[in-house]
Amino acid sequence: MSPPEILQFAQQHVPRLGIATVYRNLKAMVEAGELSPVPLPGDRLYYELADKAQHHHHHFRCEVCERVFDVEGCDDTFNALLPKGFVLHAHDLTLYGLCADCSRSKPKRARA
Ligand SMILES: [Zn+2]
Ligand SMILES: [Zn+2]
Repeated sequence: MSPPEILQFAQQHVPRLGIATVYRNLKAMVEAGELSPVPLPGDRLYYELADKAQHHHHHFRCEVCERVFDVEGCDDTFNALLPKGFVLHAHDLTLYGLCADCSRSKPKRARA
């Protein structure tokens, strides 16, 4: 989740909560090892539970609502892409497109 999403969610319980408090708490939780920042391209920050981050998975980012979803499983065939003699240690993969909500609400193409 991104800090604005976390704020929106938390405000359901604490209506007067501000974004500065959210950032302060996120920082404390990262330092305490409870949360991990999600390394995604772009300047928006996302966080996930540290337990979740330990487990190998990838992310899907919706181009419309900018929410990020976990993608389970990994097609680990990247070794085959490497030039001869190269050794793969890790990979980082982000998928982009429309989430289920956004693909449903996409305007239907009018019939000619
Ligand atoms: Zn979406
Ligand atoms: Zn993977």
